Amino acid sequence: SSFTDYALSKEITSALTSLGFDTPTEVQSKVIPVALEKKDLVVKSQTGSGKTAAYGIPLCELVEWNENKPQALILTPTRELAVQVTEDITNIGRFKRIKATALYGKTPFHIQRAELKQRTHIVVGTPGRVLDHIERGTLALERLAYLVIDEADEMLNMGFIEQVQTIIQALPSNRVTMLFSATFPEDVAKLSRRYMDRPTEIAI
Ligand code: AMP
Repeated sequence: SSFTDYALSKEITSALTSLGFDTPTEVQSKVIPVALEKKDLVVKSQTGSGKTAAYGIPLCELVEWNENKPQALILTPTRELAVQVTEDITNIGRFKRIKATALYGKTPFHIQRAELKQRTHIVVGTPGRVLDHIERGTLALERLAYLVIDEADEMLNMGFIEQVQTIIQALPSNRVTMLFSATFPEDVAKLSRRYMDRPTEIAI
């Protein structure tokens, strides 16, 4: 298969070409068509499988450039992953001028608050700092249409389950949710049962 098989705009396919992405990986070929239809997804896949672009490509395609408030939120267990995902999204969305903002601890809050006052389409962050912004009213949620929970098992291992639940409960309920995890312990399965709408299940 090829990226031209999907309903992707020229801005996105050109970016993929410039990144040297010729052929979708397995997780990408299974996830992209379903995500473009705005269906909830539960995906069992490892890092290194191309999972970031599997959700990054449809998110960059689906967000509306003209909207001022954030439309997608990606939760990651670590700051390193948040930085990596922000970079990947920026690369995929560069010809559409997609702005991705990373939110994590250590960087001063006021710097992130200033960044969130500018137009940003996609927010990527760790649960603690994202919740901090939600509670202080610096992260607008009313246009939030897409939620990605990346490395859900790691997130729960690190003790973030309550923060993740609090964040999900603060989001508009008519959103699309995609959950990615390498393993599916009961807590991860519970999260998908509780907060997702008949998700399509994909295992790589
Ligand atoms: P990930 O699993 O998201 O960490 O991605 C693993 C690596 O594969 C990253 O360095 C990506 O840039 C690269 N990658 C992702 N998708 C593709 C693709 N379709 N073709 C070539 N490289 C890719």
